[in-house]
Amino acid sequence: MKKQVNRQILLIKRPVGLPDDSCFKLTISEILDPAYGQLLLHTKFLSVDPYMRGRMNDRKSYVPPFQLNKVLNGSIVAEVIESKSNSFAKGDFVVGNLPWQDYSITGEKQVRKINPELAPVSTALGVLGMTGLTAYFGLLDIGQPQKNETVVVSGAAGAVGMIVGQIAKINGCHVVGIAGSDIKIKYLIEKLGFDSAVNYKTNTDLRKSLNEACPNGIDIYFDNVGGIISDTVLSLINKYARIPLCGQISLYNETLIPLGPRIQPVLLTNCALMKGFLVYNYEDRFDEGISHLADWLKTKKLKYAENIVEGLENAPKAFIGLFAGENIGKQIVKIS
Ligand code: NAP
Repeated sequence: MKKQVNRQILLIKRPVGLPDDSCFKLTISEILDPAYGQLLLHTKFLSVDPYMRGRMNDRKSYVPPFQLNKVLNGSIVAEVIESKSNSFAKGDFVVGNLPWQDYSITGEKQVRKINPELAPVSTALGVLGMTGLTAYFGLLDIGQPQKNETVVVSGAAGAVGMIVGQIAKINGCHVVGIAGSDIKIKYLIEKLGFDSAVNYKTNTDLRKSLNEACPNGIDIYFDNVGGIISDTVLSLINKYARIPLCGQISLYNETLIPLGPRIQPVLLTNCALMKGFLVYNYEDRFDEGISHLADWLKTKKLKYAENIVEGLENAPKAFIGLFAGENIGKQIVKIS
């Protein structure tokens, strides 16, 4: 049944530093009818992701900035409530880059159908979606993990990090996570089978603790956070280390990027590979990634966690919470 109110969230101010509530506004708009080849969608789950912070700046990047006073957009799982396309039927679930609003009209080529038999549809935003695929391709394609190697992952209790650590375990590696609370450390070791984990917020000598946790040095560093944490990890890498450069969340709210140590000598003397990547580089292999991740879920080799906040109106808060580490696993907003 179609509702007549279409709530939406706009970006009304570009944040300087950490965003706050004043950057966002909830408004109401009309619900339009789909034209030929289009779908009318009802938003069910919305993903908040750290990269969105970069899009809030008026700066050129790999995706265009969000427009002021326009509806935000991001990864969304929605249900088709009216279809004027031969490829989709009413009741199908889809995932795509869609506006932060209750109802949207989209073209049939702008969304991908979700198979609800694989796992709950919300996983299309996490373990069977962008963040799971990021972990899968970044670790396996760039990291190339070998049995008994040591893998360190930062942001380890986040959506990408927790999948990276578990895929590394599936590949027979010694896995060490870095995260920001004792609850997360306990979770990584006791629930996800990490060999060790370090709380970077309370640890007074991160280098020493990592050295102890990685008695054979570090072969792969999956970098989700950048900054001082990554400077410290890089000082402990082994010869031929691989560093999938996935994210730099510790720097996203900085107005002036702090200078770090020069890392080229460490990379050079260790013949190490550091490679930045975007998950969309692997778009033509997404089906392969989803199929492996779904198999591991089915055989219980892989676990996932979702941190669910209820209500479209709480999406900005959920987004801001990423920078305080409020989530374990994928941060999702459920639209009631
Ligand atoms: P997430 O689930 O949203 O987790 C973010 C976590 O980062 C937070 O829970 C927090 O945990 C940690 N964090 C926040 N501020 C931090 C800081 N100043 N220093 C250290 N840790 C901090 O994130 P995600 O979706 O897994 O993404 C992880 C990283 O990968 C992000 O940098 C993101 O931009 C990047 N990413 C890249 C791609 C790609 O295609 N390259 C795709 C997806 C994501 P703590 O409690 O541990 O601080």
